Amino acid sequence: MSSRVLYAKPSITELEIRYATDAVTNGWGDKCYEYIQKFETMFKQHLGVKYAISTSSCTGALHLGLAGLGIGPGDEVIMADTNWIQSAAPIIQLGAKPVFVDILADTWCLDPVKVKAAITPRTKAILAVHLYGNLCDMDALLAVAEPHGIAVIEDTAQGIGSVYKGKRAGSIGRFGVFSFHGTKTITTGEGGMFVTNDDALYEKVFTLSNQGRARGETRQFWSNTVGLKYKMANVQAAIGCAQMERVETLIKRKRGIFFSYFNLLKTIDCLQMNPISDVPETQPGYWMPTVVFDKKLNFDPYKFLETLKQNNIDGRVFFYPLTMMPMFEAKKENVVSYDLYNRAINLPSYFEISEDGIKRVVDVIANLIKEKTRSSVAV
Ligand SMILES: *Cc1c(COP(=O)(O)O)cnc(C)c1O
Repeated sequence: MSSRVLYAKPSITELEIRYATDAVTNGWGDKCYEYIQKFETMFKQHLGVKYAISTSSCTGALHLGLAGLGIGPGDEVIMADTNWIQSAAPIIQLGAKPVFVDILADTWCLDPVKVKAAITPRTKAILAVHLYGNLCDMDALLAVAEPHGIAVIEDTAQGIGSVYKGKRAGSIGRFGVFSFHGTKTITTGEGGMFVTNDDALYEKVFTLSNQGRARGETRQFWSNTVGLKYKMANVQAAIGCAQMERVETLIKRKRGIFFSYFNLLKTIDCLQMNPISDVPETQPGYWMPTVVFDKKLNFDPYKFLETLKQNNIDGRVFFYPLTMMPMFEAKKENVVSYDLYNRAINLPSYFEISEDGIKRVVDVIANLIKEKTRSSVAV
């Protein structure tokens, strides 16, 4: 039997083990924040931002950031229909309403024209999610938001390593949030980060993240507001420090894996992969290499996952339009979102995947296309 090709698995080296061991052995008492502070500093430097607050998840970081902007009942936040649910969840938990608009067929991210059309007097923010490490058209979104005084915010959970016009994704909007879940490019097991360059927003979010206690408050256990609790543990931050020392290697590997697939698949007709941007100084992070099959192939993602499984390979289906799910109102006018999910698949892209593993995945895809095109000729 061939070895199993996983779809995701973190790269854990002696360095992560050494730092985690140190944190669990020594990182207590007066050292209980050392790795946390170091991790935040390294992350700020990597991104080129003024402030960073580590959290227990990206969901938590997004909740904090939205609360910091004062978003609440009656407010609307515009976001793409094609998304992971956790980008929408904090909006709803704050009593606000996510307004789902369609994506662009080539980036699978927010369509700025659709965003503009969805703005109402209640719109408080535009949530730009850099899906699969592809990039939102940030200039267009900022231009649409600016006349209305609407904040553009970035969910960069999948966008570490993504660069837009020379700036790292997550550093461009009012704030950015990141995830260090085990499937993401940088991992701490579970974890997240809030980043911003905005002094006032930072103070607000810091206070919320610190159980309502402001920075500089001299009284112990004194809160001026009701806060949230989404803190990262020192042991997790220790793993994060090791990952940040290796961040360029981890990002480079994602690109390497994408281009291995790309070079093997580019001669095959009837499919499209993540966009390769031609905007200067712009590069997607390629968190998940993804294949979209042409409509005429009548692709069935779950059948394909079954075929992959028979070959000892894991895969993932593309994100559904969130408005297909029972808690939202269907929005079939989001035609790109409703068309794409059913003919796309995410390919295995973990750090240690071998060229042979990539080749095995490509062979399954090539066989499928061969079969499909043969049968369509026969019909
Ligand atoms: C993973 C992910 C999240 C949630 O991150 P957690 O750390 O699991 O809370 C949010 N948004 C996007 C786009 C994600 O990929």
